[in-house]
Amino acid sequence: MLNWIIRSFKVKKDTPLRVSDPRISQEDIDPDALKVIHRLQQHNFKAYVVGGAVRDRLLGIKPKDCDVVTSARPNEIRQLFRNAFIIGRRFRLVHVKFRFNKVIETATFRKHHGQEEGTPVEADNVFGTEEDDAFRRDFTLNALFYDPFSNQIIDYVGGLKDIEDKKIRCLGDPMVRLMEDPVRILRAIKFAAKFNLRMESSLDKSIHKLKDNIKLCSQRRLYEELLKILRLGLFEAFVRKADEYGFLHAFLPFFHVYWQRNREETLQLARAIDHYSAQKPNEPHFLFCLLLWPRVNEKFRACRDIQKAIRMAFGDLNSILPLSKLDKIKVRMILGLLPRFEFLMDLRSKKRRYMIRKFVRTPFFREALELLRALETIEQGDTPGFRFWSEELNRPQEPRENPVRPPQNQPEHRPVHHHAEPVPPQPQPEQTPPQQDNNPPFIPRRRLNLPEQNP
Ligand code: ATP
Ligand code: MG
Repeated sequence: MLNWIIRSFKVKKDTPLRVSDPRISQEDIDPDALKVIHRLQQHNFKAYVVGGAVRDRLLGIKPKDCDVVTSARPNEIRQLFRNAFIIGRRFRLVHVKFRFNKVIETATFRKHHGQEEGTPVEADNVFGTEEDDAFRRDFTLNALFYDPFSNQIIDYVGGLKDIEDKKIRCLGDPMVRLMEDPVRILRAIKFAAKFNLRMESSLDKSIHKLKDNIKLCSQRRLYEELLKILRLGLFEAFVRKADEYGFLHAFLPFFHVYWQRNREETLQLARAIDHYSAQKPNEPHFLFCLLLWPRVNEKFRACRDIQKAIRMAFGDLNSILPLSKLDKIKVRMILGLLPRFEFLMDLRSKKRRYMIRKFVRTPFFREALELLRALETIEQGDTPGFRFWSEELNRPQEPRENPVRPPQNQPEHRPVHHHAEPVPPQPQPEQTPPQQDNNPPFIPRRRLNLPEQNP
């Protein structure tokens, strides 16, 4: 504790740097965050934009959200806003809610916890000054305040200089700060990948030394960070950076198995995840399908039972990826359909046509088909299965066939007509003339076998 205080005094500056910067102005700030800051400042509290929203602007990216920090205590914030709710145990924060489910996260200035240094942080609710608040953050680039009404950046920690130098620097001793919260290792790698920044040398060394501590973190927090990485389309860059630190093995062991087997294909998988994160920003379950398929496929190839394979693959994954119940169901449904694409294409049976038509109408078929497209592209560079099934999907409805002929001497169940003779089915306008065998040609192709290639 004493060491921490001494070190903090050594790095703390008496007066912060206050500057305007052309890369950030009031117009860049979320209008609802402006309302929150304005009201707090009107009531004589300090209030600033902080963290990612300032950092991202300075590094040329549009931030995805906007956090506010203030000298007002949670109860005081709540009294100023009808739409404010105190949340969190570890950090007591206030969520100020606006239209369209928008939330402005508003935190009170805090100082470094009073626990013995280097031990995991359990509670962090000791309120402090704005300067304390800057120094208790993780990296200098995340510790900048921006006051949108005076249009000034307030820098206690040298964050502006580090951003200029494209450097990630830990606040305080990296060995201590990474030990007390190893999620910071993951965050450092994420920011390095996201902005193409260098680690300051002592941070770099500490990450190498402490990377395995990531296993001590709460799975929920790791999952949230992973979700951000996936949703921001950063996965490929992250995987490359994590590999430099040998971090994949500790953080995502199942993914590291793919990585060791076939780097090029694994990078393609990561690229596909990034591609779909832009296309399906609100469907993380689809990204997890991609992420998990090689593992499920490996089990499937051993047991030939897809449901069993999914259960086996998910067994120890629950602790690594605590997906929501709904996402888990969706992932299971979609992955469970994948082997049927091949099975039905290769099927030699009179029922094939009927089964294909039925399969096309299965829930989640379209998502599974999209997944097939992604996996075929990765593994074959071509998408014969996707093309076949897209045609099936777009094929006009045929007159209903009964795949199983009724026994000869039982009456068929037909609609009752006024005609004496049964009416033959009318040909559909766009349909090809009836064929002897309506099965499409067999298309030979490689099977989806990502995990077993290039050992
Ligand atoms: P992102 O773009 O991923 O949201 P962020 O920096 O905004 O990045 P948040 O999780 O939203 O990340 O956190 C907001 C701010 O809280 C950070 O900018 C940082 O100042 C502080 N912070 C977050 N996590 C930690 C941590 N583990 N230790 C110390 N400070 C943290
Ligand atoms: Mg943020």
